[in-house]
Amino acid sequence: MPELPEVETVARGLERVWLDRTLTAVTVRRAGLRRPFPTDFAERLTGRRFVSVGRRAKYLLARFDDGLVLLGHLGMSGRMVISGLSNTPPGPHDHVAFVTDDATLVTMTDPRRFGLLDLTTEAEVATHPLLVGLGPEPLEDSFTADILGAALAGKMTAIKLALLDQTLVAGLGNIYVCESLFRAQISPLRPAGAVSGPELVALVAAIKAVLREAIAAGGSSLRDHVRPDGELGYFQHGFKVYGRAGQPCPDCAGPPACPGIERIVQGGRSTFHCARRQR
Ligand SMILES: [Zn+2]
Repeated sequence: MPELPEVETVARGLERVWLDRTLTAVTVRRAGLRRPFPTDFAERLTGRRFVSVGRRAKYLLARFDDGLVLLGHLGMSGRMVISGLSNTPPGPHDHVAFVTDDATLVTMTDPRRFGLLDLTTEAEVATHPLLVGLGPEPLEDSFTADILGAALAGKMTAIKLALLDQTLVAGLGNIYVCESLFRAQISPLRPAGAVSGPELVALVAAIKAVLREAIAAGGSSLRDHVRPDGELGYFQHGFKVYGRAGQPCPDCAGPPACPGIERIVQGGRSTFHCARRQR
């Protein structure tokens, strides 16, 4: 599932080909994905010029010259693929095609169909039902230890689960929460409200650092984004704990002091941590 850094990379890749371009054709090949596409989706977009392309949490946001806003989510398996126009017929999972005035084709491909595309307006985007309850953006300067501390105060839920709560901080998923807690040396099992003082400062710094490093890795993958498949946003990135159960801990000397990375289950999902280093 794409996480914030992947969505940021997709947004930057789309910005390169969409900014200041005009949509000349939009083709919708099914009624919807996770939810139906808006009525007159293609008609409302055709002829509109992109004035910005970005994201909020894990949602893509493209703004147009008439105040229209395209809101997208990649769901579990959604991809945005950039190519030139060709006579190659679309694949079975190529659900929406966007063509701009320079004959660039962007195809939304989504085998599992948990993605979504919606239309809103500049006036209403902030109160869109999918966006209105989201917490602060972790990479913005306004996301501070004080803000996070206030959001966690009094919470008995585990810090790992609290950080996945999109109303407390927006866009964090399982991978980067595990990596952030490892870097900040905080146990994923600690009650959220018990994380305080210098630990909060370390946690906020760790969240920003792991996200920035992943975005930088995505950016370097973007530099050669003219891969044969033109696919955006999926890149190899080295994780220190995520998916490394049973492997040596990268920051400890090894057994017997540290038995290695351990996998536990919290809220039905895997957590990876070092029980020695994270307290
Ligand atoms: Zn360790």
